[in-house]
Amino acid sequence: MTSILVIAEQRAGVLSPASFEAVAAAQKLAAELQAELDIGLIGDDLTAAAEELSAVRARRLCLVSDAELEPYRAETYRVAAQALVDELEPQLVLFPHTYTVRDYVPRLAAGYQRILVNDCIGYRQDDGQTVFVRQLFRSKLNADVRLTGSSPHFISFQPGAFRPEEVERGSNSAPNESVDVSFDASRFPTRSETPGQEETGGVDLTKAEIIVSVGRGIGEEENIALAEKLAQALKAELGSSRPLVDMGWMPKARQVGSSGSVVSPKLYVALGISGASQHMIGARGATTLVAINTDEKAPIFAHADYGIVGDVMELIPALIEVVQGS
Ligand SMILES: Cc1cc2nc3c(=O)[nH]c(=O)nc-3n(C[C@H](O)[C@H](O)[C@H](O)COP(=O)(O)OP(=O)(O)OC[C@H]3O[C@@H](n4cnc5c(N)ncnc54)[C@H](O)[C@@H]3O)c2cc1C
Repeated sequence: MTSILVIAEQRAGVLSPASFEAVAAAQKLAAELQAELDIGLIGDDLTAAAEELSAVRARRLCLVSDAELEPYRAETYRVAAQALVDELEPQLVLFPHTYTVRDYVPRLAAGYQRILVNDCIGYRQDDGQTVFVRQLFRSKLNADVRLTGSSPHFISFQPGAFRPEEVERGSNSAPNESVDVSFDASRFPTRSETPGQEETGGVDLTKAEIIVSVGRGIGEEENIALAEKLAQALKAELGSSRPLVDMGWMPKARQVGSSGSVVSPKLYVALGISGASQHMIGARGATTLVAINTDEKAPIFAHADYGIVGDVMELIPALIEVVQGS
């Protein structure tokens, strides 16, 4: 019988939201392939995270726990993940596509003469084979990846590709297991420093009910003040696409997207944002999305509930007037 292993990720005992998305993907795939699903977890003190994962439907939860695994190091994580793979012998090993995964999993895969099929946005069954889909050329093309050669195969899923609330709850059909691992720490040259904490200035876009978000279509840094006025009128937080952050026009804490915040406001107003997949990963949880863009073919309109083709510099003052008059 096919078996699938999904390796969840925790930091300081807290599971990442992307882990639950990967678990949702793994449960769906396991049901389609009639495969057994095991969940793996790596770290030092795993009590809280393990308890949370025990409430997720799977065959069993397998823990690799050792003081050497805190703080994170690519070498120790690779050894721990390899112990899981060798013990469970899965055909597919699934991961959330996090910074940690892109650091240590390519080395893990290389040890099995395999690659990491990374950052997949989904999969489908085609003629009895699972085809994984990943994006190329800045999301302009979708590539189908068919797995050939012997297992295990290693796949990571893009944050936002699956929804954490789709995780099926239930108890494990087999008892939790501890997988032993021994480390020769002298073989590991790297030492981790305390992870840096991004300065947020008290901004938490994930809690905002309304977000007015600016993109490159705003044209000039000075024009952001106009968008800010609209945000104030709507009692909204100001968000941003990544290029404005990269140019230093907006603080990082206001970036929405795969490398920023994943938000779920009731209303998201996208001003001059094209709708690249990395931005939409962050914005597509909005209940209602309004987009203003001069290009009627801009991808954002495929996601928008309300779309206005027009110049933001003309439309923002008109919107402010309407909101203030209402
Ligand atoms: C690994 C990786 C991670 C990334 N993470 C993120 C992320 O977290 N968040 C993110 O946003 N991006 C991210 N990106 C970048 C992403 O791919 C896009 O490049 C980015 O989202 C584009 O930002 P934009 O829509 O503001 O700019 P553009 O793509 O340049 O779009 C500007 C839009 O404004 C419109 N426009 C121009 N003038 C006007 C006007 N006067 N009025 C109205 N509309 C106008 C244009 O028609 C266009 O559609 C990431 C990329 C990579 C490779």
